[in-house]
Amino acid sequence: MFGKFASLHEAYGRVRQAGADPFGVAFDEVVSPTTARIGGRDILLLGTNNYLGLTFAPEAIAAASDALHRYGTGTTGSRIANGTYAGHAELERRVARFLGRRDAMVFTTGHQANLGILATLAGREDHLLLDADSHASIYDGARLGSASVTRFRHNDPGDLARRLRVLADKPGDRLIVVEGLYSMLGDVAPLREIAAIKRETGAYLLVDEAHSLGVLGERGRGLIEAAGVHDDVDFVVGTFSKSLGSIGGFCASDHAGFDLLRLAARSYMFTASLPPSVVASVMTGFDLIDQRPQLRAQLSANAARLHAALAASGFRLGPSVSPIVSVRLRDPALAVTFWNRLLSAGIYVNLALPPATPEGESLLRSSVSAAHSFAELDRAAAIITAIGQELGIAGPQAAAAES
Ligand code: PMP
Repeated sequence: MFGKFASLHEAYGRVRQAGADPFGVAFDEVVSPTTARIGGRDILLLGTNNYLGLTFAPEAIAAASDALHRYGTGTTGSRIANGTYAGHAELERRVARFLGRRDAMVFTTGHQANLGILATLAGREDHLLLDADSHASIYDGARLGSASVTRFRHNDPGDLARRLRVLADKPGDRLIVVEGLYSMLGDVAPLREIAAIKRETGAYLLVDEAHSLGVLGERGRGLIEAAGVHDDVDFVVGTFSKSLGSIGGFCASDHAGFDLLRLAARSYMFTASLPPSVVASVMTGFDLIDQRPQLRAQLSANAARLHAALAASGFRLGPSVSPIVSVRLRDPALAVTFWNRLLSAGIYVNLALPPATPEGESLLRSSVSAAHSFAELDRAAAIITAIGQELGIAGPQAAAAES
């Protein structure tokens, strides 16, 4: 059974030889949204998707703790059996209201939201058009369903239009799937152009705002709000595991028949629902997004600060300034060494290696939080730069070392 993993075993072994296991890091203690302890040492957390720093919000902890005592540790059942409490239904109304949509379904994770929605909505005759850099959960949902799947070049509306033209004579509906903020390089979808293509071709459009909810848009509603394309989007998917600092996923829509998916989406029907404490913390998270626009402003200032510092050091970064700041490297072994050096110096970032990355590159991915202080970000940038220079990656000689 395990023979087929031989090459994975070998590659993983090489990664681990370089030092700590980047895919097996365990925090002994997490003491704040930006600090954890490993082996008695304080580590600056710079790769947690905790964009608004809400994981330790006292209001969210109090609400979760109250729900824990009132309703117990878990629901022990699925949404269509004993797993729907008043809080789950209230949270669905809250998500719908927050996004200005008629209806919303809450799933136990964002991954399951994509599985359930994509596999169920698009049937045998239908066509899914996926951005090539889509998250694994989008690909998994497409594979689980029976629709035909067409990939278009990342963030390339021209390629999307061309592929829709090829399908023009085929029966069935078309569903275009894009993300708000792409998780690896922090670039945003050209949503206005994509919405125009959707209108021209009569396709449906789904936007996964996993990384952009609470982050983009004047009121934190995501890229749909920032791009002003609310009426062109048919389905909004998202997660509670990033800016909301908890866990869970959702899909929201204005379509009249949407509610029926509750009795068709298997990842909704055949898994236990969210614990009530989680539901309570997410509800509070939505309150905080509305009550504290300063968190978004701080996040944006923090993102600009880290991006500017690393760009000035000569690192190759993603195409836009966003809370996801990735140092792009061509050599995976160098990336693993760099990651280890950073952890030894007290900085935790995400290591992302091909094939999970765009263009086969290796990434040291930082995600900035509103909870970071400028001092923390400046210290991180100085350490990343110093190690990068030692490894020949930052500074004027960088391009040569990397080519
Ligand atoms: N969609 C996208 C675009 C994501 O980046 C992620 C998580 N990385 C998910 C969905 C899944 O979210 P969850 O953690 O809630 O399963």
